[in-house]
Amino acid sequence: MDALRALPSVHQLLEEEPATTLIAAHGRPLVRFAVQRVLEEERRRAATNTSHARWARVEATIQGLRRSRLRPVVNATGVILHTNLGRAPLAAAAADATAGIAGRYSTLEFDPLTGRRGRRHDLLGELLRYLTGAEATAVVNNCAAAVLLMLTALAKGKEVIVARGELVEIGGGFRMPEVMRLSGARMVEVGTTNRTRAEDYAAAVTPKTVAIMKVHASNFQVVGFTESVELKPLAAIARQHQLLLLHDLGSGALLDTTAFGLAAEPRIQDSLLADVDLVASSADKLLGGPQAGLLFGRADLVERVMKHPLARAVRVDKLTIAALAATLDLYLTQSFGDVPIWTMLSTSLDSVRSRAQAWQSRLAELGVAVELAAAESTVGGGSLPGERLPTTVVVITPRQGGATDLLRRLREHEPPVIGRIVEERVLLDPRTVLPDEDDVVVDAVAGALS
Ligand SMILES: *Cc1c(COP(=O)(O)O)cnc(C)c1O
Repeated sequence: MDALRALPSVHQLLEEEPATTLIAAHGRPLVRFAVQRVLEEERRRAATNTSHARWARVEATIQGLRRSRLRPVVNATGVILHTNLGRAPLAAAAADATAGIAGRYSTLEFDPLTGRRGRRHDLLGELLRYLTGAEATAVVNNCAAAVLLMLTALAKGKEVIVARGELVEIGGGFRMPEVMRLSGARMVEVGTTNRTRAEDYAAAVTPKTVAIMKVHASNFQVVGFTESVELKPLAAIARQHQLLLLHDLGSGALLDTTAFGLAAEPRIQDSLLADVDLVASSADKLLGGPQAGLLFGRADLVERVMKHPLARAVRVDKLTIAALAATLDLYLTQSFGDVPIWTMLSTSLDSVRSRAQAWQSRLAELGVAVELAAAESTVGGGSLPGERLPTTVVVITPRQGGATDLLRRLREHEPPVIGRIVEERVLLDPRTVLPDEDDVVVDAVAGALS
């Protein structure tokens, strides 16, 4: 008790020498807050720190608040579109474009030729129309927002027909039935989990039906006794009954994935060619851009959707538009080698293997023995489900402590290196590690095993 009574006051502490240095570096209010918090701790624990320990706690408290939470990590998981690690890494041109706009005023909603107000979601219109052949396009916050917006603006209070097998959860709680409910559209389910036929859709049409919704199975596969209706016949049914055909495509490829030796993933253009009225897709999946949602389709529908008040709530920021424009410019000039995810998707097994070998020999020079093994990389992030890319991984056998401990040590490296565990060993896949990150991986592995 006596010790506690002897606790200095905040005011006294702020007069001490260490406070002066901290205040110069971090500002007075933050230092005062940290001092208060440390004194409260001491009071709660009924134990006083030495002066030295107390100032160390104060500094740690300050550092804890100032440490950047959003930090770069090295993705050695082999999952190319890793949702928890930020999905698509941007192309260098896109990152530069963002930096060029961030600290300045811009033409976000202003046309410098006329001096009049413009519309931000129109800025990329010409580019997106050229790349996809769409009549009209719009950009919003993400694909979930695009889907919610199109259902709210076009189908609120009406019926929308969806196949039971497509009532999917995309991840992070984005479930199609819940999005429908939120939009105010009434969902009419047809077919069974594994089979839905054209007749099922036609039989479900009532005078209240406004649309048929097709949801792309972007993160799962149905195998075995299955049947579903393709976009073309769905479009025919929609035309016949004067309904809209809406497509939640999600993955958003502009390129033909089979040309890269991958399974076929439907492109945005394919939906439009199949006569879909409105397609929604993400910009940070197979497009390889920033997080955004893209809408493509009939001009009158895009206009209606973007005039809905909800459009304002899900609009994109200037940084997104800058990054997206620069990403799309790479498609415009067919510079796919500059889009990181397409480089990762198309890296040959030979070149992944030589990179793994290079890591192995550099580690050997440091006295660290690792093995190489054949494994598989995945696409992830709601694109190309089930697709596996042959790869070569570096396999690290933990010395003392288990694989979980080794994985943690790699995460504690600055920047963190993220791997995966298979059979009590840690695997690092070079496919998803960016070209300038080799040194980091070697350093992290050597450090984690020391
Ligand atoms: C990924 C995905 C979404 C959600 O996209 P976000 O851009 O993450 O909001 C919606 N629908 C489908 C089919 C998807 O694959």
